[in-house]
Amino acid sequence: MKEYNICLLGGDGIGPEVTDEAVKVMNAVGKKYDMKFNFTKALIGGCAYEKYGVPLPDETLEIAKKSDAVLLGAVGDWKYDTLPPAVRPEKALLGIRKGLNLFANLRPATVFDELISSSTLKPEIVQGVDVMIVRELTGDVYFGEPKGVEVKDGKKVGYNNMIYWEDEVRRIAKIAFETAMLRNKKLCSVDKANVLDVSRLWREVVLEVAKDYPEVELSHLYVDNAAMQLIRDPKQFDVIVTGNIFGDILSDEASMLTGSLGMLPSASLSADGPGMFEPIHGSAPDIKNQNIANPIATILSAGMLLKYGLKNSQANDDIENAVKKVLKAGYRTKDIMSEGMKEVGTKEMGDLIVKNL
Ligand code: NAD
Repeated sequence: MKEYNICLLGGDGIGPEVTDEAVKVMNAVGKKYDMKFNFTKALIGGCAYEKYGVPLPDETLEIAKKSDAVLLGAVGDWKYDTLPPAVRPEKALLGIRKGLNLFANLRPATVFDELISSSTLKPEIVQGVDVMIVRELTGDVYFGEPKGVEVKDGKKVGYNNMIYWEDEVRRIAKIAFETAMLRNKKLCSVDKANVLDVSRLWREVVLEVAKDYPEVELSHLYVDNAAMQLIRDPKQFDVIVTGNIFGDILSDEASMLTGSLGMLPSASLSADGPGMFEPIHGSAPDIKNQNIANPIATILSAGMLLKYGLKNSQANDDIENAVKKVLKAGYRTKDIMSEGMKEVGTKEMGDLIVKNL
């Protein structure tokens, strides 16, 4: 039996409820593959602030660094909105991403047949959509220097620097090609190479990395066109790779193809250390401790942990299939409930997924 150390960060709001269900599912699927998970719980976000006065205690980061993978619920609560920015719960997310050097963010947007009516787009457009957005997370205009607002010639001016080093592009391109190899071997790189010099370098490096992946069919789109194509015909995409700011916008656009926040997982990966896996939704303080939160996004994040973090694709397939079976049988949490379906709570949804593994 192989043992893995998993750092479990429930966080705030519904975070601990949904991660509990993901733990149940991981333990059940682990048995099938002779995998044992040793979960170590640690505090992050508002709950860490309450105890230690900081949202990301050193102890939490140390546990995360020593683990094989990190599973996170969510952080934040409106009651912390008046805290100084440096100790706000959300600050912990930036801190842990930096501390673990998580430079690649993988966000799938998968439309489940049973939930097709949740999308605002026509069913024939979204049926079968299964897109993976690979976004660079630590570079680009969000981190580039110089930046600032100052007064020049009597006028205020604000500026940021859109910058990528070739090695930053190379490592995210590699992750994207590897991801495409695990899927349908189709990759679209999104840039703005018709206008931006930084994008011309991006494209040059992506083309260079492509030589190592002859099986992957590579295409390029300008970001404005990519935004249109995602709405016009999302099924043309398999994996999309792009920089930080374009990825920020396109991944939110893609997630809305599915229409259901409670269903979407994500993974953030580093070059050699542990990855972090979390649902894309927040801590939903409005519904915490009511056993109504949808745990599926977190359960699918645990699936990504198994696939991308511990390299067991089959265990992830099992989890995805179990989720599909439960939806097919008509079970829904409140957020995705529709007429004629059977409403279940957070815990029941977790149990049903375990039963269908
Ligand atoms: P949110 O995603 O928490 O909630 C938005 C809406 O979706 C709410 O009505 C909520 O009830 C619902 N919802 C979210 N997840 C759900 C689930 N799994 N099941 C059922 N319903 C669900 O976003 P928000 O309300 O803007 O933010 C709440 C807090 O979360 C804030 O403090 C915010 O800063 C934080 N936040 C954290 C993260 C993160 O930890 N990664 C991400 C986004 C927001």
